[in-house]
Amino acid sequence: MTGTICHKCDEGRYRETSMHDDIDGVLHCTNCGDEVKRWKSAEELGLPHMLSCPFCGFQPNVCDDDALYPVGRDRKVWGAHCYETGGGCGASVLGYSPQDAVNTWNKRASQDIVPVVQSLLVAHEQVLDANTSNDRNEAQARVINIIEQLKYLKFYR
Ligand SMILES: [Zn+2]
Ligand SMILES: [Zn+2]
Repeated sequence: MTGTICHKCDEGRYRETSMHDDIDGVLHCTNCGDEVKRWKSAEELGLPHMLSCPFCGFQPNVCDDDALYPVGRDRKVWGAHCYETGGGCGASVLGYSPQDAVNTWNKRASQDIVPVVQSLLVAHEQVLDANTSNDRNEAQARVINIIEQLKYLKFYR
């Protein structure tokens, strides 16, 4: 949505116009101020949700511009990312369509138990080492996120 031409005045473009836009997940037209939702939902985009990252436990939002975007100008290869701008680790996979990239991401996220357990240990360590309640809450959220992910693992092959 970011950077697309305003569908109301046809002149401005939708951009983040203040800090609140980022928090509220909206964009405003630079010309007339028309407000739009920044992200379409995964359902609207016809995409599956991304499972949390097997390396760091962050759960990428598939609707975030930073989670899924084409690698080249021809838009033939797409990358699904554990984006650092949202708190992820930068891990990524490639696919031949947005759907394919997300499926590949979820396949990796759901098959290998070792990195999941490792990230769980790291996150638990961070809970123990947290100096502030904020840090502790964030670390606990990561632990919960990773435990959620265990549901998708295949224990028997
Ligand atoms: Zn406008
Ligand atoms: Zn990650």
